[in-house]
Amino acid sequence: MSAAKQASGAAAPILRVSGLKKYFQSAHGKLHAVDDVSFDIAKGKTLGMVGESGCGKSTTGRLLVRLHEATAGSILYDGQEVTAASDRELKKLRTRMQMIFQDPYSSINPRHTVANIIGEPLKIHKKVKGAAEYEDRVRSLMATVGLADRLYDAYPHELDGGRRQRIGIARALALDPEFIVCDEPVSALDVSIQAQILNLLMDLQDKLGLTYLFITHDLSVVKHISDDIVIMYMGQIVERGPTEELFARPIHPYGQALLSAIPVPKLNARKERIILKSEVSSPIDPKPGCRFAPRCAYASPECAAADPALREVSPGRYVACRLAEQFV
Ligand code: SF4
Repeated sequence: MSAAKQASGAAAPILRVSGLKKYFQSAHGKLHAVDDVSFDIAKGKTLGMVGESGCGKSTTGRLLVRLHEATAGSILYDGQEVTAASDRELKKLRTRMQMIFQDPYSSINPRHTVANIIGEPLKIHKKVKGAAEYEDRVRSLMATVGLADRLYDAYPHELDGGRRQRIGIARALALDPEFIVCDEPVSALDVSIQAQILNLLMDLQDKLGLTYLFITHDLSVVKHISDDIVIMYMGQIVERGPTEELFARPIHPYGQALLSAIPVPKLNARKERIILKSEVSSPIDPKPGCRFAPRCAYASPECAAADPALREVSPGRYVACRLAEQFV
């Protein structure tokens, strides 16, 4: 976390998500991809969202920018209900809320030049007047994300993964957004390039006051960039808290297992890895009760009786576990 971010005081939430659900109909029943998720993000901060593949984190990100329609729930962005926005309102909202995708190559048109890819939103939203202003703006966006000016007419296939992701970031910045969903933005990159892109995202946040939802399965990445973390399991948030506290002392049994898998960097340091029994249950028409119960070492019949609610068990720490107080 940057010094500027650490120094900043508490800010008002710019995004408030309540009771968000997304169910997909499948041949076998209703897949509960996101199931009653609530969180908020303060302006200028980063909320890291972690969990195994298929836990609903990417679907949540797509719901926020209306790439999916919610089944139920509310997404309030700066006081405006995103789920109820008309086409016209949504077009406006999209200038304020953007998304960066995991695989920059699949999210950009390989037949377009770097300039065309970055500049397309400027044309769609009529943000520039004339060719000279367009070119100036595109070159300025390239400079902002560290792309050399000589790449203006290059094609994505001529560039490495890091530069392609810089194109994706420049395109996301083209409309001067305030909020960006970063969906696994460094997962497809080499480790050395990952650090460069993470640093770029943090510098941009400091410079432009951006707010991020940062989605990843990589715990060391999320620790580096996030102010707060939510851990998702089978479409639900099971734990939330400030990054440093949560990493130092995860409370939910799933959070404990997840974080025990991070290697300890110190010589001779030991940390016992918690190996989870069995596989994740099916998200199709899940049974009532704690969804982690089949894998939880502390499960009892009471855990299957009702969904444990996410509740504050110590200041700033929210956990969805019947026995949470025992683990604090
Ligand atoms: Fe484990 Fe029960 Fe807590 Fe679920 S509610 S995490 S099954 S102890």
